[in-house]
Amino acid sequence: MTNRKYKERLDDLLLVCRKHLARVDETLIRRAFEFGFNAHRFDKRASGEPFFDHPYEVARIVAKEISLDDISIAAALLHDVAEDTEYQIKDIRAEFGDTIANIVDGATKISGITFTSNESTQAENYRKMLLSMVSDIRVMLVKFADRLHNMRTIDFLPPEKQQRIARETMDIYAPFAHRFGLANIKWEMEDLAFKTLNREEYDSIARELKSRRREREQYLKKFAAPIEKRLREENIPYDLSARPKHIYSIYNKMVKRNKPLGEIYDLFAVRIILDSSEEVCYRVLGIISSTYTANDSRFKDYVTRPKNNGYKSIHTTVIGPEGKMVEIQIRTKAMHAIAERGVAAHWAYKEEVEKIDEKLNNWLNWIRDIIESVGEEEKAGGQMMESFKLSLFQDEIYVFTPKGDLKILPRNATPVDFAYEIHSKVGDHCLAAKVSGRIVPLDTKLRSGDQVEIITSKNQTPNPDWEQFVVTHKAKSHIRRWVKEEQRKAIEEGRAIWEKKVRKAKLSINDDDLNEFLTKQRIENSGKFFHAIREEKIDVDTIIKLIQDDQKHPTAVVTQEGKIEGLFDKFITSARGISPGILLDGSRDNYLHNYAKCCNPIPGDPVVGFVTQGEGIKIHRRSCRNIQLMLQMEHERIVEVGWPPSSGGLFVSAVRITGEDRKGLLNDITQAISNFQNTTILSVNLDAKDSIFLGMFVLGVRDTEHVNRLLERLRRIKGVTRVERPEQ
Ligand code: MN
Repeated sequence: MTNRKYKERLDDLLLVCRKHLARVDETLIRRAFEFGFNAHRFDKRASGEPFFDHPYEVARIVAKEISLDDISIAAALLHDVAEDTEYQIKDIRAEFGDTIANIVDGATKISGITFTSNESTQAENYRKMLLSMVSDIRVMLVKFADRLHNMRTIDFLPPEKQQRIARETMDIYAPFAHRFGLANIKWEMEDLAFKTLNREEYDSIARELKSRRREREQYLKKFAAPIEKRLREENIPYDLSARPKHIYSIYNKMVKRNKPLGEIYDLFAVRIILDSSEEVCYRVLGIISSTYTANDSRFKDYVTRPKNNGYKSIHTTVIGPEGKMVEIQIRTKAMHAIAERGVAAHWAYKEEVEKIDEKLNNWLNWIRDIIESVGEEEKAGGQMMESFKLSLFQDEIYVFTPKGDLKILPRNATPVDFAYEIHSKVGDHCLAAKVSGRIVPLDTKLRSGDQVEIITSKNQTPNPDWEQFVVTHKAKSHIRRWVKEEQRKAIEEGRAIWEKKVRKAKLSINDDDLNEFLTKQRIENSGKFFHAIREEKIDVDTIIKLIQDDQKHPTAVVTQEGKIEGLFDKFITSARGISPGILLDGSRDNYLHNYAKCCNPIPGDPVVGFVTQGEGIKIHRRSCRNIQLMLQMEHERIVEVGWPPSSGGLFVSAVRITGEDRKGLLNDITQAISNFQNTTILSVNLDAKDSIFLGMFVLGVRDTEHVNRLLERLRRIKGVTRVERPEQ
């Protein structure tokens, strides 16, 4: 190559890079160009051209049609160095670092894979290919460009080799490229492979297309004229073009419909690209459907509901002049850019799944999922490559469906992951699983070689607990989505129930009142509250009553206790001293616990424990208002507690006695108690104020009936006005 030609080519490549990439390290491209050029300087292609023509063209394809980054372009310039020259991967590594060396290494290894018709070898080869891709997706991108250029120049190879390469391109590279969303590369690969494999058909279709070109162009003109007129009238700037379908797809249509080319009408799609906003797409759609009759069954609105990969466009098919069906795509310039460029953006565009080998499909579905799960931030932050590497690819297991289809899952995957892998509906309705014929728990970790059968039930829905053990992104996101949706629904329904009851009770409880109440009740948010109502964990009538009471007597509890504060404090201290500690689930231990200030439980009161963070178990009276909601909603935090029996084996009961402060009253009371059989006074606290006697007793009693009889007896004492167990 002359110096001038060398410079021309390098400049041209740099120009293409600048045009198609956001960022170009030009020094890197120059260095890779020089290195590749020198490494191949003595080699020639089958065509007799200098070998470096090939990596150079491959680099151009990578830059122009894949447009991912400069690293992949440098790698493309070097991709055949290790295979065909005196230089080795380690030389590239020394010169260009690990990333580029690894891509070249991966591409070289894929070149060593040959595909035969033997199925098991083929599966293994897919695997190798995918693994190399997975270490860095750019390996495959370089490989696509490599294969495309080889197909463009295939004529120079011996016929046998041509057939093999074309077959491989058709069966493996084209579907792969399709999955990567590289639509143009896929089409060209298919057409070139078809040309090699079935020259006659190819030539005949190509000839006929050519001969009908004028006719087609005239038809397009006729078809477009009324639409263009309206677009101009309405001042909508547009770009209308007709994209001819590629030859191989026309051939497929002919075979599928068993019709000659002359009777295939949808040979091209009309595309209208707008230099305006999304709304205008619909205006244009309106113009089209008022011009031609639309075939509604083929209408697709990817603007309102974009594809997962971000693809947006409106597709409509109308009946044009002469009754011919014409497909029209409407999109904005921005949508067009997404549709045309970028691996992720192209992903899964126009699927023709049935053509793709089932196994290959499974592999790709899996990888597509992961690629689609790459977040926008990662993409924007340039970490897309990092995400693609995904260490989880290293540890994978191979399991089988009952029909023997292979599924690849990350290590530690469970039957639920497997179910979601098959289909989200299978996952959502997954009831049980059989591994190699035996029913296993759904959280069983699958192992390579397992044959997994999922048993579904219409009535089964995702279990939120599944999220704890599933490992695939797919399963996790489906479960989360479901749980979120269910919660949202439950909250809405709970709120409706609540509002209806409040209306019926003719209460005015606004959101602030409710929130205040909930805060008092230690309920974090109203969503949780409404959810509990929907789940019937709490009884709305009880709550309404509590709030009503609160509104009527806002400080009732405090006043009542405040009156007897001094006495009560002394009393509870001594009373609690009688039987220190609490019983948790019937056994006594040194549980960290303390007594709630809101209800001041004393030995003998029916109590419950509420598990707190940091303060151990908080003991409330069972009747305490502040615990009512907790009792119903936060069942898991409530523990059954009781008072340890007193030393005599008697139960502890508190009694409050009010009366006239007359001389000898205390004596009468104590006499009455000690005359009662099997009763012990464990603690007494007394106070008198304004000639009112207040006595708090803690008694050892045999049972409830016993204490009730005692209370009757005490009520008959002269001057006693009130006898009660304070907890009641
Ligand atoms: Mn090559």
